[in-house]
Amino acid sequence: MAKKVAVIGAGVSGLSSIKCCVDEDLEPTCFERSDDIGGLWKFTESSKDGMTRVYKSLVTNVCKEMSCYSDFPFHEDYPNFMNHEKFWDYLQEFAEHFDLLKYIQFKTTVCSITKRPDFSETGQWDVVTETEGKQNRAVFDAVMVCTGHFLNPHLPLEAFPEPLKSLCTKKIFLYKQVFPLNLERATLAIIGLIGLKGSILSGTELQARWVTRVFKGLCKIPPSQKLMMEATEKEQLIKRGVFKDTSKDKFDYIAYMDDIAACIGTKPSIPLLFLKDPRLAWEVFFGPCTPYQYRLMGPGKWDGARNAILTQWDRTLKPLKTRIVPDSSKPASMSHYLKAWGAPVLLASLLLICKSSLFLKLVRDKLQDRMSPYLVSLWRG
Ligand SMILES: Cc1cc2nc3c(=O)[nH]c(=O)nc-3n(C[C@H](O)[C@H](O)[C@H](O)COP(=O)(O)OP(=O)(O)OC[C@H]3O[C@@H](n4cnc5c(N)ncnc54)[C@H](O)[C@@H]3O)c2cc1C
Repeated sequence: MAKKVAVIGAGVSGLSSIKCCVDEDLEPTCFERSDDIGGLWKFTESSKDGMTRVYKSLVTNVCKEMSCYSDFPFHEDYPNFMNHEKFWDYLQEFAEHFDLLKYIQFKTTVCSITKRPDFSETGQWDVVTETEGKQNRAVFDAVMVCTGHFLNPHLPLEAFPEPLKSLCTKKIFLYKQVFPLNLERATLAIIGLIGLKGSILSGTELQARWVTRVFKGLCKIPPSQKLMMEATEKEQLIKRGVFKDTSKDKFDYIAYMDDIAACIGTKPSIPLLFLKDPRLAWEVFFGPCTPYQYRLMGPGKWDGARNAILTQWDRTLKPLKTRIVPDSSKPASMSHYLKAWGAPVLLASLLLICKSSLFLKLVRDKLQDRMSPYLVSLWRG
């Protein structure tokens, strides 16, 4: 029987999580508290529900080829950096293309997730949801938390009174920013709680691909006790000043993507690629690290990945060519020549007239200078 997975949130991370569950033959149910997909990309004039959303003039800050789902490139006509409406359209197209909407229960808030009494054997969770004031409880084999991290304001620790400060400093360690270390069963994952020096969308998609394979038992993560021990040791060394605390730093995009891809078995092997397909290898190695690279081999391989990589510059240049250029094969009309040559000819004529009038003035002045002594003597005489 397929494992039941609760996906919380239908934003960028939630949508890819649903798709990854489907790809791995898991059975997803997504709970979204608002009435639409897209999370913070769903623009509203007012924020009545208290949710952080995009502002009216927002334009994406990562270009479309670097910030797309790895098997669903943006249409070539989309601008490279787009306003939030266009980006939301893309999310809608993605959800429709892969038929994801049927898995989402809108206007449903997840109130709590608690371990079942037999959690250490089953790894199962009790999930309590609320839809229009009505509560519901269901058992899930695994949970993907995709609730975003812009929901609440990030306040400095000094903003809290002393007794609360100690609570706030309580840290939860996440293995590769995804799996809580203190769980004896890896059946809960946090998707999208990461600062990346690059596209969050591509990063969260790869996280979701890895997580669903861990849920299925096809990828393994080290045992909880070992990870906890390592984390505690590291924490001690940070306190003693041996290591710098980098937990709040943004992760390097390529290093993080390669790391997660290696866990799944989808990190492209460049030497092998150079032997098999030099043209593609060249583009992968020297070109931008677009997400299609992680669909070239291994689980979740996509046949369109090669073509998507080889045409990525065409899709980048397409929106820069919006001016309609007349067909050069047709003979040009008289008006075309007039338009093309009219302005330069007019300018040249004006310059000539101007120059010749200056020349005439110069000649006249010179003549006047030469004639004036004779005129004076004539006058005197
Ligand atoms: C202003 C701004 C600009 C950005 N620009 C870019 C950019 O250009 N490129 C880029 O890659 N990234 C950008 N980001 C990063 C952004 O975080 C990601 O693009 C992405 O939106 C994260 O998606 P998410 O699904 O993780 O979270 P969210 O979009 O926050 O979605 C979370 C979803 O979970 C739902 N939810 C929350 N709690 C519950 C609950 N208890 N029960 C049910 N549902 C719940 C919410 O309603 C929401 O729909 C930007 C972020 C901001 C704030």
